[in-house]
Amino acid sequence: MSDPSLRMIPDPMGPSAELYAFWAKGELRLQRCADCGAWRHPPRFRCAACASDAVTWDVASGRARVFSWTITHRPVDPAFDPPYAIVVAELEEGSRLVGSLAGIANDELRLDLPVVVALEPANDRVALVTFRPA
Ligand code: ZN
Repeated sequence: MSDPSLRMIPDPMGPSAELYAFWAKGELRLQRCADCGAWRHPPRFRCAACASDAVTWDVASGRARVFSWTITHRPVDPAFDPPYAIVVAELEEGSRLVGSLAGIANDELRLDLPVVVALEPANDRVALVTFRPA
């Protein structure tokens, strides 16, 4: 039986702490290069496209498509009852996020399935990604 109080929560630091601070406020912001405009995720100190360290935190649309997933049959996180899906979805901005799935059965997952990002507060510093059908 799952116990949501036992969910493993990240303890972010550096640029990840900035990311989670926005997400904890319900703002789906991601790093974006202030010089070339490339989206950066996960957060990092330099742009992979142009090596600039200039950054903005821009709001992403939250619209995505399923890129990949796995179904976990053995419980790794006691907060979830197996089998549960871990989904990688690609935002329309091009960045990929990892999250859990809600509102759809595991066997209904399909490549390119349109989904939207929901930020679920985990504590006062962190919110985690859940994907729901668009
Ligand atoms: Zn750049």
